[in-house]
Amino acid sequence: MNIDVNMIEALVKKVIENVNVNASLENKEYGYGIFEHMDDAAEAATIAQQKYLNCSMSDRAKYVQVIRDVVLKKENLELISQMAVEETGMGKYEHKLIKNALAANKSPGIEDLTTEAMTGDDGLTIVEYSPFGVIGAIAPTTNPTETIISNSIGMLAAGNSVIFSPHPRAKNVSLTLIKLINKGLEEAGAPRNLIVTVKEPSIENTNKMMAHPAVRMLVATGGPAIVKTVLSSGKKAIGAGAGNPPVVVDETADIEKAAADIVDGCSFDNNLPCIAEKEVVAVDSIADYLIFNMKKCGAYEVKDQALISQLEELVLNEKGGPKTNFVGKSAQHILSHVGIQVGPEVRVILMEACKEHPFVQEELMMPILPVVRVKDVDEAIQLAIKLEHGNRHTAIMHSRNVDKLTKMAKLIQTTIFVKNGPSYAGIGVGGEGYTTFTIAGPTGEGLTSAKSFARKRRCVLVGGLDVR
Ligand code: NAD
Repeated sequence: MNIDVNMIEALVKKVIENVNVNASLENKEYGYGIFEHMDDAAEAATIAQQKYLNCSMSDRAKYVQVIRDVVLKKENLELISQMAVEETGMGKYEHKLIKNALAANKSPGIEDLTTEAMTGDDGLTIVEYSPFGVIGAIAPTTNPTETIISNSIGMLAAGNSVIFSPHPRAKNVSLTLIKLINKGLEEAGAPRNLIVTVKEPSIENTNKMMAHPAVRMLVATGGPAIVKTVLSSGKKAIGAGAGNPPVVVDETADIEKAAADIVDGCSFDNNLPCIAEKEVVAVDSIADYLIFNMKKCGAYEVKDQALISQLEELVLNEKGGPKTNFVGKSAQHILSHVGIQVGPEVRVILMEACKEHPFVQEELMMPILPVVRVKDVDEAIQLAIKLEHGNRHTAIMHSRNVDKLTKMAKLIQTTIFVKNGPSYAGIGVGGEGYTTFTIAGPTGEGLTSAKSFARKRRCVLVGGLDVR
């Protein structure tokens, strides 16, 4: 029998190296991807990604399915949805269940990574999606678990490992989810630590993560500050930033349906989604009928100017933006703070406002919905463009006039434009298409998916293998 001594030596060396690495990390990790220090998390993610390179595409598909299964397991889905509401104090449990399940079911996996091929007299060239390596992903408080689920599926499908920077106010639920996913992955035979984070997420740790040399790509889902920070990092970055989605309703719309869709979209998860309806611009001739129908669907109209002032005082901070402790709260809760007791059937607080009002201009992320009247649809479109503030995020229009729908779609330049439906149709709920919770308007990836987290690489074979 021939024994290849060199091969055995190399094998033993590799095993010892692995044991040493795992032993050296063991003292610094809490298990299932949670580390004391960012440097250790980055080291573990680097080792995991190197091992992951040796996994096949069917392994990747299996691991993506594991993430879906872990999240969709009833007890896990209920746990993370409940914890997210309790810890952040934002949103609605029943809607978190829907959003988490949506992220698990409809975030694309490896099928998103299609290969391009060019053949001819000179042979065969292919362009394939290849991993960046270790990705640093920053998640918001508003969709803490949904972002981790959707990013994990896309980033792992593309062959990366991920360091997550959750929002400190969503620490426990984020760590719980990361542990659950890692446990499932490890049990399925995946490399350890494909998804990691630190025990105490903080701005300082996020900064360490962004600066770490092992991190080759940054993905920020959050407000303008963090998007600006990742775009100034000198690394490849995807920025999924703020929105202020306007809804235009013109005189040709199905007003009863528009009213129902607007109340449904605006109140979904207490208005936390960045795509949710934030203000209505209605053509004067149908505005009264629209408001009448929105009230029938669960909107509570506030007409008294003193009460509107009280609401401003209650929910706006000194800079005119939303106070954190009212973000993602229900209409019932907000109204109770100005002395109005209503039942849970009231889902939206409605008022007429001028276009300069902070409720119209600011992204409040709570179910307060101002309606601005304009004389015609052209004025409505122009105003909606201004109110969107160039975020290139989301806009909605209810109309049966194809020319005006086309005009608004072209001019407003948003990543998502929903026609005649609630905003969430734009992320695959009652509208065609896959989902994501990282909608990258500023950097142009749009609704991110596995291929957004991959590099295009060309492989050229000179001569042959063309069959035409
Ligand atoms: P946020 O900007 O306060 O926080 C987002 C994340 O960035 C958190 O993890 C936070 O810890 C971190 N962060 C913020 N500032 C930082 C800094 N200076 N240095 C380091 N880390 C920093 O946002 P939020 O309140 O959690 O989420 C709401 C915002 O996110 C809204 O503006 C919403 O529109 C936006 N959002 C956008 C998308 C999208 O897909 N485009 C999705 C969800 C939320």
